[in-house]
Amino acid sequence: MDGIIEAPSPNFDERTQPVSIIVLHYTGMEDAPSAIARLRDPASRVSSHYVIAEDGQILRLVPEEKRAWHAGRSYWRGLTGLNDHSVGIEIVNPGHEWGYRAFPDAQIGALIPLLAEIKDRYHVSRGNVVGHSDIAPTRKQDPGELFPWARLARHRLALPRPTRNLMDPNWSDSGFLLALERFGYDVSDPLAATVAFQRRFRPELVDGTVDGECRAILLALLLPRPQGDD
Ligand SMILES: [Zn+2]
Repeated sequence: MDGIIEAPSPNFDERTQPVSIIVLHYTGMEDAPSAIARLRDPASRVSSHYVIAEDGQILRLVPEEKRAWHAGRSYWRGLTGLNDHSVGIEIVNPGHEWGYRAFPDAQIGALIPLLAEIKDRYHVSRGNVVGHSDIAPTRKQDPGELFPWARLARHRLALPRPTRNLMDPNWSDSGFLLALERFGYDVSDPLAATVAFQRRFRPELVDGTVDGECRAILLALLLPRPQGDD
């Protein structure tokens, strides 16, 4: 990719697993310079492969073949310790702590070709393009309910939110959790897992309550067609 600025971080080590997941984050810091400084500070022991500024400028902090330290304790679809399995992309946004706001068009416009290129190169499925909150629901909220997953889905870079022919399977709450685990989430904290699912697939109401719409969306995601993974 052209136009990527090299901004090396010392916070990485060796991968032991192939890349099969892409994790999207927001930086959650007051501004871009402080976020980038932290991701390059040896004392912070955090990093990512890429950072995307609000104006669309892309920085590379860690080469993809190395293991960047962005996911922390994490789980998705049977895998744990997802730094080993993933490419991490930090998207500059103050986040819920510092004034969460919409992601500018230029920023998402820069993310889309980068994500497409990485996803193709490693044959990452759409269902494995995830937010940090999906893989660490008890600890993380990023990239949050304002993140434009639908725009990514239109480019076939993420799973779309099912909207057609929704049917409530009338699962009990424990049935819902079993289905949520089957889809990929760590459900050991049921409320956190439900909130993470809502943040990703029903962001207009993130209340942790399992309702008919949540059940219907999850059922549609688990059906092989038309909204199935690839
Ligand atoms: Zn994160």
